Amino acid sequence: MVPISFEFYPPKTPEQQAQLDKTVAKLRTRGPDYVSVTFGAGGSTLSHTPETIRQLRTDGLEAAPHLTCMGGSREEIRNLLKLYRALGAKRIVALRGDLPSGMVSAGEMRYADELVSFIREETGDHFHVEVAAYPETHPQARDARVDLEHFIGKVNAGANGAITQYFYNADAYFRFVDDVRARGIDVPIVPGIMPIANFSQIRRFSELCGAEIPRWVAQRMLAYGDDVESVRSFGADVVAQLCRRLIDAGVPGLHFYTLNLSKPTMNVLARIG
Ligand code: FAD
Repeated sequence: MVPISFEFYPPKTPEQQAQLDKTVAKLRTRGPDYVSVTFGAGGSTLSHTPETIRQLRTDGLEAAPHLTCMGGSREEIRNLLKLYRALGAKRIVALRGDLPSGMVSAGEMRYADELVSFIREETGDHFHVEVAAYPETHPQARDARVDLEHFIGKVNAGANGAITQYFYNADAYFRFVDDVRARGIDVPIVPGIMPIANFSQIRRFSELCGAEIPRWVAQRMLAYGDDVESVRSFGADVVAQLCRRLIDAGVPGLHFYTLNLSKPTMNVLARIG
């Protein structure tokens, strides 16, 4: 089995905290390489990420914070880097983020490559820096070629590796990796895996982030309608098949978007074996 990592979002209520605790207790039995915690764009004061990192690290997990630059100032980001260092974090996922609706100021950095450079300026080689990659092209990019250049810009700014946006089309990932390698870039590019437990939710996310759901998968899912068991079982089959193909091709790891639920990810892992 390849190294695996799990992504969580920081809980905001006691109920969400209890849900995350349950999920972490189940998923840690699968021996993740590390877990990561997302960060809401728009400034550190609104974020529960540091607290969740502190808790997961106290529980003995290698926990990596996500850090976004959209909406934040250099001073805020500098303070977060200091805090994460003090908490013992060695890995960070550096992102631009998206401007929350209603927020007008984009902040002092415009793109993730500037954030990566800033992290290197401030902390040298302390952090292993991951950035985002988009095998099916970022939805705001002018075209796939320009998006690839921007990805390469993040690696040249000092990123050690990348995690992809989720996809259900392995060929898009293979082609993206080939294009990156052809440019002489050899950082690991770990596929992001989104298990399917609730099809309408995944369809909504996919429209926003530009992930294509193959027609044959969507048609089967729609036919299941409210038959939740069939949706989950077929979803786990499809995603496990994708993971097996990726593992057979030699991917450096798998990063699971858990949405703070254990079952959908566990169902996929059980099928991979
Ligand atoms: P960038 O790499 O900056 O790219 C954004 C867009 O700008 C792309 O279209 C790119 O082509 C273009 N671009 C890049 N550089 C330049 C340039 N120099 N000039 C002109 N155009 C440029 N969001 C959150 O809010 N919190 C999270 O915790 C979070 N975690 C994520 C984890 C992963 C693994 C992934 C894949 C995404 C995550 N996101 C998160 C979503 C992410 O913030 C959005 O996809 C965002 O729209 C882009 O972020 P980025 O870091 O890829 O941006």
